[in-house]
Amino acid sequence: MKEIRLKKGRERCVLRRHPWVFSGAVAGFGPGGEPAAGETARIASSEGETLGWGWYSAASQIRARIVSFGKEAPDEESFVRSRVGSAVGRRADFFADAYTNAVRLVNSEADGLPGVVADYYAGWVVCQFTSAGADLRKADVASALMSYAPFCRGVCERCDGAARSVEGLSGEDAFRTLAGDEPPAEIEIAEGQCKFLVDVRGGHKTGFYLDQRDARAAVGALANGREVLNCFSYTGGFGLFARACGASKVVQVDISGAALALAKRNEGLQHACGTEMEYVEADVFQYLRKCRDEGKSFDMIVLDPPKFAAAKSRIMKAARGYKDINLLAMKLLRPDGILATFSCSGAMDAPLFDKVLSEAAADAGRDFQVVARTHAGKDHPVLLSHPEGEYLKGVVLRAT
Ligand code: SAH
Repeated sequence: MKEIRLKKGRERCVLRRHPWVFSGAVAGFGPGGEPAAGETARIASSEGETLGWGWYSAASQIRARIVSFGKEAPDEESFVRSRVGSAVGRRADFFADAYTNAVRLVNSEADGLPGVVADYYAGWVVCQFTSAGADLRKADVASALMSYAPFCRGVCERCDGAARSVEGLSGEDAFRTLAGDEPPAEIEIAEGQCKFLVDVRGGHKTGFYLDQRDARAAVGALANGREVLNCFSYTGGFGLFARACGASKVVQVDISGAALALAKRNEGLQHACGTEMEYVEADVFQYLRKCRDEGKSFDMIVLDPPKFAAAKSRIMKAARGYKDINLLAMKLLRPDGILATFSCSGAMDAPLFDKVLSEAAADAGRDFQVVARTHAGKDHPVLLSHPEGEYLKGVVLRAT
């Protein structure tokens, strides 16, 4: 096997079992020369000692993603299959309990398959491959998923997205079936008391924000009798949970007409109830100002914006964006009102997000209790040695 030799003094991260080898840590290659894109290479210390084994990528700042630590080389024949099998096995409790039939089956580094994401939607699996090593092994991943994912009818791939281009991977075919049958245009899933249509070809990520499952339940549980403003609604998730839990009114706001159209159709899948529903296609930054100018108020506001900071360098600009919407929302809340606010920017860590919220509260001149904190669900595990895997934070606040 080819060898990636680390610079002297740059072995520490690998010894601490961090799974990324950055370009700056690489001194050069062994006698076999540079590995090919995605090839498994031996990661060696400056002295030549074997530290682990990783998937190489010349196009990425992350030059190697470690798939195995220690001296023993992973067996290329069985490796992917056994990792997929273990990952699916760890989700057995999701399949045992009937709360949902939509689960993340493989979560990248945390499941030992860096750059592989596989989301299960009622018998169909949608993958994303965002590292050269993952891309090279997608046929093996798909065939393993066909065997291990319960009642699996087909495995497909979403190949669009910025994450792939950063890694030097092509994105021309946005969608491809890898194994089994081709999935339908929309897949109906169940989550708790709600049902949703998932557009696996045109929707965001693999089609649905599975990572917000626990937060949707937490928000729903507080929504009874409240007038709810669900900002950045996408296909209606938080708003439909609030509706199912007895909200008096729900306003769903998103900038995407297509997302709102699906949100409306999703409403049609739910049990009839007395909640008044309103759909607004608007920019949330402007819509919150409009509400302020018109003197509107709400009992509950959800803010689940897209990632404002793609990189650490954009963090200050992102912080201003988060402060802006949170300050506006805090001012629109009635006494005892609930603000459920989220950040999925990995570059903004939880303490910084809290600081932004505290500053917004101070500017709003109001006090808030922290009622709950939410995270991605247990099907989105994070490696203890890889805190970068944790990106989603939620804070549920109550105005006093
Ligand atoms: N809460 C959703 C996921 C939200 S994803 C769920 O649980 O499923 C973020 C959404 O924000 C996307 O639907 C996107 O269309 C929308 N969006 C992005 N920028 C926006 C803006 N400035 N104003 C309103 N919506 C925006």
